[in-house]
Amino acid sequence: MKLKLWHKVLIGFVIGAVLGLMIPQLAALKPVGDLFIRLIKMLIAPMVFASLVVGASSIGDVRKLGRVGGKTLVYFLVTTAIAIIIGLLFALAIQPGANFILTEVDTYEAAPMPNVIDVLLDMVPTNIINSLATDNMLQIIVSSLFIGIGAAMIGEKGKPFLAFCESLAETMYNITGMIMNMAPYAAGALMAWVTATSGADVLLPLGKTLVAVYVANVIHAILVYSGAVYLFARMSPVKFFQGMFEAWAVAFTTCSSAATLPVSMRNAQENLGVPSEISSFVQPLGATINMDGTAIYQGVCAYFIAQVYGIELGLPQYLMIILTATLASIGTAGVPGAGMIMLSLVLQTVGLPLDGILLLAGVDRIFDMIRTSMNVIGDAAGAVVVAATEDGLETITTGPSVDLGG
Ligand code: ASP
Repeated sequence: MKLKLWHKVLIGFVIGAVLGLMIPQLAALKPVGDLFIRLIKMLIAPMVFASLVVGASSIGDVRKLGRVGGKTLVYFLVTTAIAIIIGLLFALAIQPGANFILTEVDTYEAAPMPNVIDVLLDMVPTNIINSLATDNMLQIIVSSLFIGIGAAMIGEKGKPFLAFCESLAETMYNITGMIMNMAPYAAGALMAWVTATSGADVLLPLGKTLVAVYVANVIHAILVYSGAVYLFARMSPVKFFQGMFEAWAVAFTTCSSAATLPVSMRNAQENLGVPSEISSFVQPLGATINMDGTAIYQGVCAYFIAQVYGIELGLPQYLMIILTATLASIGTAGVPGAGMIMLSLVLQTVGLPLDGILLLAGVDRIFDMIRTSMNVIGDAAGAVVVAATEDGLETITTGPSVDLGG
């Protein structure tokens, strides 16, 4: 029987994790994973730009674009708020900070509070080349929307440029497929590095908090994503999760929603039938502002820190956590470790000791793995929901998996 790519990724992943636990020297394999991340990252800017230009030009009508944008934002905000509530409920049930022995911790500085006006202004680039060169996703999204609509408006004259973008996007998708053949080895190398560097003695003291974050993420995925894809698109949750498995595994091992983007867009389009004009808008935007996994982590960890420091939280504090964690997750960049830095904003607004973050910092990678993978799955579920409520999903002709026969 020929193994599908996602089977191979799963096998690589498990072998890497087990071998890493047994042979700590395997941490040295990390560069194999880093090579994979670099290759995938190389595709992000041209892929998002080209496919969104084509997407915006084919949506054409600005009102429809506005409607798609509105739906996407509502989906992102609602699912993020639900994520934090699930996280908090879990923390209340599991009591992650109970019996935790607080040892001396250093001090931790809060991340500076972003200014909303600046954040909004900064979404509009003053130099498109610069946005592409620095992978500034929001700026790339804004400029490609303008360029796509502009090209559509000039009719015949815009066609060669759109054909170029279409060809560029296709090329990038194709290269993603080639690079994905390396995913089983990269996943194995990164897992070996993680398990080799965080052995049981680092994990055990925070075991309950880790369990709370992992279980809350799984519950969120089962309730919210399965529910959403089934309700809006009549899609079987099994098909959804299976179709997105490669992206899930890449996110889990690379801890970067941004770096996973080429894989998750390809999975959503090829395996779930999300039209490229919707996928190329919803998923890059989601990789930048929609972070349900991060939100869950922030909810659970805020509760954990309060508990460890013996601080009682009341309803106003819980509401504050929901609000600030929603905003903080929007501001979290899709790169490793960003969610932990943004947790400091939540703690500061709620009035919890920032130093608590240092208790969690040693195992942040383990938290980040589930955060990132859920962030990516949430964006894909959003793309399915938005697509289903617009022109519908496309029929899949190629069959799942991006297996190129490797
Ligand atoms: N690493 C996460 C991501 O890329 C963000 C986080 O640290 O929570 O989605």
